[in-house]
Amino acid sequence: MKKGILIVVSAPAGCGKDTIVEKLFETEREIRYSVSATTREVRGGEAEGTDYFFKTREEFEEMIERGEFLEYTEYCGNYYGTPKSAVTEALESGHDILLKIEVHGAENIKKMFPNSVLIFIRPPSLDELRRRLIKRGTEDLETIERRIEIACKEMTMQCDHYDHYVINDDLEQAVNEIKDIINKKRESL
Ligand code: 5GP
Repeated sequence: MKKGILIVVSAPAGCGKDTIVEKLFETEREIRYSVSATTREVRGGEAEGTDYFFKTREEFEEMIERGEFLEYTEYCGNYYGTPKSAVTEALESGHDILLKIEVHGAENIKKMFPNSVLIFIRPPSLDELRRRLIKRGTEDLETIERRIEIACKEMTMQCDHYDHYVINDDLEQAVNEIKDIINKKRESL
């Protein structure tokens, strides 16, 4: 049976990761998406069960207790976690699955699944990142600065465990680079 690939995509907030992944799924329809659980507030346009499973802290902590997460972390004051069931089900049935998670989660996944493909997306620059976050307008300035602080850390010292680095300067090019990475991994199996 065909083996499923576990693909992890990380990027500091505002690097265009969501747009890249959306565009990737337009053509790579057979790849499944791992919907994470989170305690952060719902943003405009987000849907329960599609973007995230939105939980209260209490509900999330119960899920931790029950061992329902493959990995989870606290980021910017909120919990985020990857439910175990969807990932194991996909891989066991030979389907590829993509996780859009931050650096600590990615590191943990790599330890559990050494054969996973870890891709880190970088913005062209930190100034550009700040501009994109302000333009997006989903967070207040204080949160944006916190996210930029995390982004700096992520980009300088916490991303050396990734297999591939892609700069999101040109959307089309970034998506194509990711498709190439996935295809090469498929060929190597
Ligand atoms: P956002 O609030 O912008 O949707 O996500 C904040 C950060 O949490 C992003 O880097 C996102 O990729 C990450 N994230 C989302 N879900 C998970 C998860 O299940 N586990 C981990 N470790 N990080 C996640």
